[in-house]
Amino acid sequence: MITPEKALQIILDSILVLKPEDVHISEILGLVVAKDVFSEENIPPFDNSAMDGFAVRSKDTKEASPKDPVTLILRGEAVAAGDTPEIKLKKQIAMEIMTGAPVPQGADTVIPVEFCKKLGDRVIIYTHYPANMNIRKAGEDIRRDDKVLEKNKIVYPADIGVLASLGMDKISVFPKPNVAILCTGDELVDIKEPLTPGKIRNSNLYSLSAQVEEVGALPLEYGIIKDDPEEIKEKITDALEKVDLIITSGGVSMGEYDYVKKTITEMGADLKFWKIAQRPGLPMAFWILDDKPIFGLPGNPVSVMVCFENYIRPSIFKMMNKKFQPRQIIKAKMAHPIKNKRGRVHFVRVIVYRERDELWVKTTGDQGSGILKSMAKANGILTIPYEKSFIERGEYVEVKMLKPILKTPIPIRIEDF
Ligand code: AMP
Ligand code: MG
Repeated sequence: MITPEKALQIILDSILVLKPEDVHISEILGLVVAKDVFSEENIPPFDNSAMDGFAVRSKDTKEASPKDPVTLILRGEAVAAGDTPEIKLKKQIAMEIMTGAPVPQGADTVIPVEFCKKLGDRVIIYTHYPANMNIRKAGEDIRRDDKVLEKNKIVYPADIGVLASLGMDKISVFPKPNVAILCTGDELVDIKEPLTPGKIRNSNLYSLSAQVEEVGALPLEYGIIKDDPEEIKEKITDALEKVDLIITSGGVSMGEYDYVKKTITEMGADLKFWKIAQRPGLPMAFWILDDKPIFGLPGNPVSVMVCFENYIRPSIFKMMNKKFQPRQIIKAKMAHPIKNKRGRVHFVRVIVYRERDELWVKTTGDQGSGILKSMAKANGILTIPYEKSFIERGEYVEVKMLKPILKTPIPIRIEDF
C-alpha cells in the first residue's frame, strides 16, 4: 500500500501532456495556447469615427465657440458604419458621419453631434476640436505582426473576440481530454429503469461525468458494464481507441466478482499501483495501457468522487498543460473532536462555517464511503494524516474548499466516527 502523496506523484509522472490541435475558436475557452499567435492585420482596419457627428478639417473649426459658431457646407450623404465615403473633404466642408464609419479623406477630426446644428445643406458648429480627436486610427488596437496570444496562456473570452476580429477561426491549443467512464456492477440499473430487488441506481456515472465536465474535459459515458471479464475487456479495448483517459468504477476490491483489476492487468496494462493508504478509496488501482492512463476506482459513490478530486483532477490539468489550480486551503477550528484509524489518511467531508468572526469545521455526519449525502452536504474536505489518531475540539485544521464557506453556523448532527 502506498501513501496518497506517492500515488499522486506516480500518476503525474506517468501522464503525458496531450498533443496540440487546431481547434475552432468557439471551443477554446479555458484551454492553453500551444503556439504564439501573431496578427496578420490591423485592427481597426481603417480610420473610423468614434462618435456620431460631423467629419471636418480641424482648422476650419478653430474659431468656433458656443457664442460664436462657424458654419460649414455639408457634402454627400451621411456616412454610416459599413459605407465607404467617396468624397475628399476640401476647405470649409463637413460631412455627417456615424460611429464606426470610415473617416473621409481630408477630414482630421469629428465634432460630436451635440455640438452641431444641421440646417439644410449647412451645419453650424459650436466648438473646436484639435486634429485626431474622436478618430479611431487604423491599427490603434492591434498592429499587423503584434503577438496577440502567447504560448502557454489560458484563453479568456476577450482573447476569443480578438481572434475573431482578426479573422482567425482556429488556433493551436492543448485540447480537452476525452474521458471514458465505465461503471461496472451486476447490481446497477440506469436512473430511469425500475429498481428490481437487489439493484441500485448507477449514480457514479453521473457524478463522475459532472466532475469531468467541471474540470473542462469531455466525458464519454459507457453506461453499465456487467461483472464479466469479456465485457470489461471489450469496453476497455473500445475506449482505448476513442479516448485519452479511462475511468472505471467498481470491481477493484478483493471480492469474488471484482474482475476489473484482474482483467485490465491481463490485457497487458502496466499496473503502477493498487491500494492507497486512504479512507475512502483504499482499493484504487492505476495503470498505463497504450500510453493511456486508466484509473480503477472502487465503486462506492464517495470513494469515486474523492479519488477523482485527489488524483484525476490534477491529471486532467496536466494533460491540458494547465498549471494545476489547487483548491483554496483554509485554516479553521474543529467544532468537535474526531478520531482517525491509524495508518490511513482520512479525507473527511466537512462543512466550514463562520461564527463570530472565526471559521469552524464540522463533519457532515456519517462518513461511510457509500453515504453520498455526506459529500453533497460538504463544502470542504479535511485531511487527517496517518499519524494523527485524534483531533480535539478547538484544534486548528486545514480544509480544502470545494464550495464557498457558509456565512452562518448550521445545526448538524455531530458524529464521533
Ligand atoms: P465495488 O467496488 O464494485 O465492490 O462496489 C462497492 C460498492 O459501491 C457496492 O456497494 C456497490 O453496489 C456500489 N457501487 C458500485 N458501482 C456503483 C455505481 N456505479 N453507482 C452507485 N453505487 C455503486
Ligand atoms: Mg462491484
